[in-house]
Amino acid sequence: MIKLGNLAQDRWIEGEGSGKALSSAVTGEPIASITSDGLNFRGMLEHARNVGGANLRKMTFHERGDMLKALAQYLMEQKKAFYALSTETGATRADSWIDIDGGISTLFVFSSKARREMPNDHVYLDGPPEQLSRNGTFVGQHIYTPKLGAAVHINAFNFPVWGMLEKLAPTLAAGVPAIVKPASSTAYLTERVVRRIIESGILPPGSLQLICGGVGDLFEHLNCQDTIAFTGSKTTAEKLQQHPRVVSESVAFTAETDSLNASILGPDAVPGTPEFDLYIKEVVREMTSKAGQKCTAIRRIIAPAPIAAELVDALSTALGKVRVGNPANEEVGMGALASLGQREEVRARIGDLATEADIVYGGREDFEVVDADPRKGAFFMPTLLHCQKPTGSTAVHSVEAFGPVSTVLPYDTLDEAIELARMGEGSLAGSIVTNDNGVATELLLGTAAYHGRMLVINRHCADESTGHGSPLPHLVHGGPGRAGGGEEMGGVRGIKHYMQRTAIQGSPDTLSAIGRRWVRGGEEKDPGAHPFRKTFEKLELGDTFRSGLREVSLDDINHFAEFTGDTFYAHMDEEAAAKNPFFEGRVAHGYLIVSFAAGLFVDPDFGPVLANYGIDDLRFITPLNYGDSMRVRLTCKQKTLRGDTGYGEVRWDTEITNQDDEIVAQYDVLTMVATDAHWASVQ
Ligand code: NAP
Repeated sequence: MIKLGNLAQDRWIEGEGSGKALSSAVTGEPIASITSDGLNFRGMLEHARNVGGANLRKMTFHERGDMLKALAQYLMEQKKAFYALSTETGATRADSWIDIDGGISTLFVFSSKARREMPNDHVYLDGPPEQLSRNGTFVGQHIYTPKLGAAVHINAFNFPVWGMLEKLAPTLAAGVPAIVKPASSTAYLTERVVRRIIESGILPPGSLQLICGGVGDLFEHLNCQDTIAFTGSKTTAEKLQQHPRVVSESVAFTAETDSLNASILGPDAVPGTPEFDLYIKEVVREMTSKAGQKCTAIRRIIAPAPIAAELVDALSTALGKVRVGNPANEEVGMGALASLGQREEVRARIGDLATEADIVYGGREDFEVVDADPRKGAFFMPTLLHCQKPTGSTAVHSVEAFGPVSTVLPYDTLDEAIELARMGEGSLAGSIVTNDNGVATELLLGTAAYHGRMLVINRHCADESTGHGSPLPHLVHGGPGRAGGGEEMGGVRGIKHYMQRTAIQGSPDTLSAIGRRWVRGGEEKDPGAHPFRKTFEKLELGDTFRSGLREVSLDDINHFAEFTGDTFYAHMDEEAAAKNPFFEGRVAHGYLIVSFAAGLFVDPDFGPVLANYGIDDLRFITPLNYGDSMRVRLTCKQKTLRGDTGYGEVRWDTEITNQDDEIVAQYDVLTMVATDAHWASVQ
């Protein structure tokens, strides 16, 4: 039997001893053994900090984004082998798609987030500068920099690939190395993926290590720069969170734990409506995909009492059509639980639930298992329970049977539905199925604070909906209370979890140098020529162009109004404009002012500025009356090189003032500027 490898300090190492045997969830045959005994856990942490972190921090956010994309493309090419092994975990092809393709697509999304929403640099600026002094010589700015430690990822057994990649993507994007510890029972699939990742040579040394087995004395060596991201049971999370070292060093700890997720059927969604049918489909899918071993699965079916019996009938009929058995067989809709031990665990938890609820479907051992031996594989019949008095019950709101198990909880009023949802005491995901937006709003506002993510499904969005149980890399995954109180993913938010936010204070020039974004009040440099004549490389932060004055006449306003069709009264009707609290009479159009500003600052000849692609943060501050004059200041604020495309983005801080130096408008002009190489090639 093969022994799973541990990847420590960039070497594959077998743990000491024979280890624990792991078996196929489908056939019960041994697959591999697992042990991490004898690993130098302290050395692994130091290697991550000193080698992996140092390598990753040399790269910019964009370079790390490119690295994630290359990794995702590489894993896509390898995925056939992952699918074959995934079957042994009990997963059908559809289940494996969530785990494997879902994991790889998370890499793609974080790659794109890092490249499009973060700078091609090492510091991430959090919001605009804060003016802290009267004369503007002392300002503040929040920045994010990568933590100088290791991210320890402890994962659950149910998603051996996605569970690793959804944590790895934001961690690597942040510039932090990871030590991954998969759950033992399905670690053979994670280990296979890590082997391929390492073989690809895409990640720099030290950025990824793997522990197959226990974590030894790893926790004893954690420090304040390390992060733990845990997924698993609440009991384990509590134990690890209270580890003396975690407490004394304030080690950042994120937990994703048990969740008694609810789905509420609105009172309008009676049998015969599209929403009722959608609800049946959604609940059955959530109960049976991954054999119900999804932290986000629907465990509590909160439905109007008058239709509870019809709902139970419809769910039972639909569950009866799901064939259970060998996940490699295409007729099979639901595979096996991850292990025989897990099956015993689910049976025991159903026993707890049955003290308060009746089993109305399933719960039997004599059910048909397709193309597999039911004595050897961890097969389980989907099981539906019905609790008659849910507000007076506790187990149905607190016991998680981590398998194809869910309980119907009837309600009489919307307030009662809200109360039932809240009795889960914090969930990862919730859903509401209704075509009444009033009902949706009331239910959502009553329950949102107890949830990390909520989905409202109706006939208009169902076809394109990603479903109740699918965490998405763009959106927050995590939830309050029982769900662990953690947060993962959520786009750039997830990357920030592995970085430290620091408030920095100083002069505008100091902050411009640190954040590599020019701050108002900083030095305005003489570019030597019009800045539009300079290539991306030659432009310097602070390069400033100042225009002369231009008067705005009544003719200009009339002409602009006729030309554009914008004859809004504030520009055309002296009397009406004066009644407006903001104006004394007719004023120039904001867009006229912005257009004149462009006329004042552009350098028209063919040059390195390729295009204007937008304006950010435009604010009109002081109105411009006819007869007033305006001038513009344009300062190179931020430069972002776009890989080897031949151009980069240049953001210009733009300020329009009147003849009395009052600020008329402020905004950022966004342009694409050619690099030296591109500019030389087109001359
Ligand atoms: P678990 O027993 O808590 O194990 C979770 C992870 O913790 C495994 O990697 C496990 O390793 C490790 N672990 C256990 N004891 C440890 C210790 N003393 N020190 C360090 N690591 C330790 O949970 P599970 O049974 O695998 O997973 C099922 C639970 O996870 C369910 O309750 C489910 O709701 C929850 N879950 C939550 C999410 C989410 O995103 N919120 C996702 C999936 C699952 P070994 O396997 O080697 O023991």
